[in-house]
Amino acid sequence: MSQIRIENVRKDFGSFTAVRSSTFTIEDGEFFMLLGPSGCGKTTTLRMMAGLELPTSGEIYIDGEEVGMKPASQRDIAFVFQMFALYPHMNVRKNISYPLKSQGMPAAQIRRKVAEVAEILGITEILDRPVGGLSGGDRQRVALGRAIVRDPKAFFMDEPLGALDAEFRERMAEELRALHDRMGATTVYVTHDQLEAMQMGDKIVVMNHGVVEQFGVPQDIYDWPATRFVAEFIGSPPMNFLDFDGMIGTGGTSVMLGGTAQAVPQALEGAHGALSLGVRPEHVRLDDNAPYRGRITATEYLGTTQIVSLATEHGRIKARVSSADRVEVGQNTGLHLDPRTLSLFDAANGRALRSVANQGVLRHG
Ligand code: ATP
Repeated sequence: MSQIRIENVRKDFGSFTAVRSSTFTIEDGEFFMLLGPSGCGKTTTLRMMAGLELPTSGEIYIDGEEVGMKPASQRDIAFVFQMFALYPHMNVRKNISYPLKSQGMPAAQIRRKVAEVAEILGITEILDRPVGGLSGGDRQRVALGRAIVRDPKAFFMDEPLGALDAEFRERMAEELRALHDRMGATTVYVTHDQLEAMQMGDKIVVMNHGVVEQFGVPQDIYDWPATRFVAEFIGSPPMNFLDFDGMIGTGGTSVMLGGTAQAVPQALEGAHGALSLGVRPEHVRLDDNAPYRGRITATEYLGTTQIVSLATEHGRIKARVSSADRVEVGQNTGLHLDPRTLSLFDAANGRALRSVANQGVLRHG
């Protein structure tokens, strides 16, 4: 069990900077997600924490001890590279006991530990079976068993479910999360899949081009994205943006959107210039009495909800509404944007304009 902290960590490969000044803390027992698009520096960050790559600058602490120069073998971390990488010529028991045997642990103690781990994973019945004939799920459990049996300080996983089909992937994601909840070991998990990160993570770091864009619990990242990049990367469909030139008036409670005063969350006072108003599709309501207008350009049926695309004076927007709502392509309609949920961004640098004070409005307001 352990807390992991990285401070101002940077990694250059020659003249290319893969990770720029990253800082965040992974608390003891957290299921922590490193999320971002391909090439953003997730794996490099994980490898530096594991000791498989040296940072160019910055510090890495495990349980308060600076480990930047410590080799991987002394960090006591189980790196689950590829869940299916088992020793094919050994049976399940030998696969799981292998790390303990290499440490020179006495045989009786190994037997006890392997039995314990098999019990946790529900694979006691298959301990003496060869790994060759096992189902995908059982192979994955055995691979996990080999990592767990060492009692490491933390588990690191790099896209462990990436190669699986959707149904199996979902089942394994649930199992991994349940296993984590039973064992409570710090787990760091790399993924490019925002849904996987939202479903499984206690906390998420969102990275882009080597930069930490945001770090927090899934709901804050979804409700209050710190940048336009995060707002677009998280959520499906992503957050909508209405781009306009404007100024947030005294009191910071409204902006002029075309000819319409749009209420916004408090504490945005004074921002001006090229702004971008962000609203999630589920917070747009079609309401004929609303003064802000749009024209329906397409609809997409999704079962209980439908996604309605609209053209507005400030760009395209998507609304997620009930499938029971009657909508027609070509129809002109009013759009009600729930003021408690809106985000405003500085269009020049993509950063959210808000004070910390208005976070939590969605949950508590
Ligand atoms: P992916 O999911 O595609 O692996 P990632 O977010 O994990 O993406 P990294 O593997 O950390 O990204 O790579 C970040 C950047 O650093 C990429 O542009 C990659 O090409 C580059 N990179 C990684 N390792 C090296 C290396 N050893 N030498 C040179 N460039 C590297």
